[in-house]
Amino acid sequence: MSGRFDGKVAIVTGGASGIGEATVRRLHGEGATVVVADIRQEAIATLTASIASDRIVGHRVDMIDAADIEAMIAAAVDRCARLDILVNNAGIGSFGKVTDIDLAHWREVMGVDVEGVMWASRTAMPHLERSEGNIVNVASIAGIGGDYGFAAYNAAKAAVINLTRAMALDHAPRVRVNVVSPGLTRTPLATGLTENPAIMAAWTDGLPLGRPAEPAEVAAAIAFLASADASYVNGHNLVVDGGGVAHTGMPN
Ligand code: NAD
Repeated sequence: MSGRFDGKVAIVTGGASGIGEATVRRLHGEGATVVVADIRQEAIATLTASIASDRIVGHRVDMIDAADIEAMIAAAVDRCARLDILVNNAGIGSFGKVTDIDLAHWREVMGVDVEGVMWASRTAMPHLERSEGNIVNVASIAGIGGDYGFAAYNAAKAAVINLTRAMALDHAPRVRVNVVSPGLTRTPLATGLTENPAIMAAWTDGLPLGRPAEPAEVAAAIAFLASADASYVNGHNLVVDGGGVAHTGMPN
């Protein structure tokens, strides 16, 4: 087999479901050894059993816990002897305006969605510098524009996009850092939206491609940025949203 990621080692956080799972399958399918890092041990076990390969490693991590993140990076490097790709995909959703949410909720969203990305990147950086590897973060179109009743999530994903740019400057030329911003994607995180016919009709009506993304379509963009095909792409926010943010909002 000859793939874009032969001999490479990748960590995918939030790897047991949705976009993370599709990314695990894609990177593994193209030759990588992949660490499936997730908070849900059972979901990790189900996925690793279904792929059943000596190039798939499960690791339980809570991305809000700095010591857990350090242990994840150390375990990956101990087991695989190198680290080439970090996909910071784990994220939690959040509903509410600032007047609806409390500090504990704000800190949880920032903790997983922003601080987890920062700490994993920081901890992985020496290993990625050694391998001349790269980081792909997963933000959202919610980090580009605002949504009604999504204050913490909007703030967190905007932070991930600009943290990406800062790291892309600071750690070049040895490490490239890019971000993917998906639009609505058919995953367990988004079932509240994708399984509500009224919301789906309103959403897809204004969307040039007229449907949500499949997780594999987002994984393809992540794999591109993580691969040598993107060797001159650094600090880029790759929007994978069916053309939604291309529209100013003026009716057709
Ligand atoms: P998902 O819920 O299917 O998968 C998220 C995974 O992250 C789950 O397996 C979950 O167990 C894991 N996770 C949650 N908290 C964790 C923690 N503290 N530590 C470790 N793992 C944790 O969701 P998804 O839609 O695949 O989301 C993946 C990423 O894509 C997220 O960052 C999300 O914000 C982003 N995103 C999703 C959509 C969408 O419409 N689905 C759109 C834009 C961006």
